[in-house]
Amino acid sequence: MADVDAVVVGAGVVGLAIGAALARSGRECLILDGERSFGSWTSSRNSEVIHAGIYYSGLPLKERLCVRGRELLYAFCESHQVPFKRIGKLIFAATPDQGADLDRIVRNAEAASVRDLRRLTGAEARALEPELDCAEALLSPSTGIVDAHDYMTALLAEAEAHGARFVGLTSVEGLSQVKNEWELRIGEDRVTASFVVNAAGLAAHRLAERTEGLGEAFVPHVRYARGNYFAYGGRLPFSHLIYPIPVPGGLGTHLTFDMGGAGRFGPDVEWIEAVDYTVDAGRRESFVEAARKIWGRIDPDRMVPAYSGIRAKLSGPGEPAADFRIDGPEAHSLPGLVNLFGIESPGLTSSLAIAELVMAKLGLADQVA
Ligand SMILES: Cc1cc2nc3c(=O)[nH]c(=O)nc-3n(C[C@H](O)[C@H](O)[C@H](O)COP(=O)(O)OP(=O)(O)OC[C@H]3O[C@@H](n4cnc5c(N)ncnc54)[C@H](O)[C@@H]3O)c2cc1C
Repeated sequence: MADVDAVVVGAGVVGLAIGAALARSGRECLILDGERSFGSWTSSRNSEVIHAGIYYSGLPLKERLCVRGRELLYAFCESHQVPFKRIGKLIFAATPDQGADLDRIVRNAEAASVRDLRRLTGAEARALEPELDCAEALLSPSTGIVDAHDYMTALLAEAEAHGARFVGLTSVEGLSQVKNEWELRIGEDRVTASFVVNAAGLAAHRLAERTEGLGEAFVPHVRYARGNYFAYGGRLPFSHLIYPIPVPGGLGTHLTFDMGGAGRFGPDVEWIEAVDYTVDAGRRESFVEAARKIWGRIDPDRMVPAYSGIRAKLSGPGEPAADFRIDGPEAHSLPGLVNLFGIESPGLTSSLAIAELVMAKLGLADQVA
């Protein structure tokens, strides 16, 4: 008999959503994290945007899981009193020639069955946001914001209410199969489980490297792209999230607000070799330039380095964007194991849908209450 039915390695937003789904299905579940508290890596270093699902053409998992995850997330926030706002967003074409980029986004949205996008002339956009200087824009009413920490707290509470346990300061060093169970190495300790989900975010490929029996083809090469944010120390005259046309590697330095109304610009895309969250104050000029495209009257002296988050990327600079990679037994042939790689944006939005998919891959889908 295994010690527990299931172990989730990693208590970020994705691991917590999976832990809650496993617990709801009646499985005894441990959620382990190397840090003292849950959600202290990427899940608390992002834009906290609930994405509509309009950017992911050719990336079927991101497209499907974002749209489904967004619906599930709004419903979860409502039923669990998690603060959120359907604030809406404008994606703007600064010049008429960027209209073709908006056309492309409209086509992506249609392919993803997102039908609420509205094309706005420059005048219509200015009627909504008088300070935005643009040729035309798209309005996405189903884009929103959420308090990521409150969301994770609610997920953990849900998991615990169904019997799951979170254990911090518990770094899983490796996995091996012993008979029909998984044995997890944690320092001198060993824990066995029938199901293991590797939701270790930026370190998921490292744990995969230390998973006995997992073929090389199932350990992807992961690269890191830091996204830096600058905060604005003053009032910003906008009521929607404001996005430029996407850039390679990211959505373009945009303006988002947290639930308290504080505005921040970012994230940009900076390829790095190792995890390091330092925001280089020297990037200020490029942030001021990007922010000026959104608001020409920005006061550069009020732009201050804020924080950064790191994307785990499955493709490198100049390569086409990669999809999420969620490998279950159907891929690597190891029963009871699911590895999640490249869960960058829109991973927060998609978290509940990712959990559904993981349950299906483990053969437990029907048992979700
Ligand atoms: C700059 C930026 C902006 C983003 N903005 C958005 C957005 O607006 N909307 C959106 O939908 N998505 C956004 N995302 C994506 C989203 O933040 C991520 O997809 C999501 O947070 C990933 O969650 P996770 O649980 O997979 O990883 P993480 O939150 O990184 O959690 C992984 C956990 O695993 C633990 N861990 C690692 N190794 C081990 C081990 N060996 N043993 C035990 N524990 C371990 C870590 O301590 C960590 O807590 C953004 C991402 C970035 C980088």
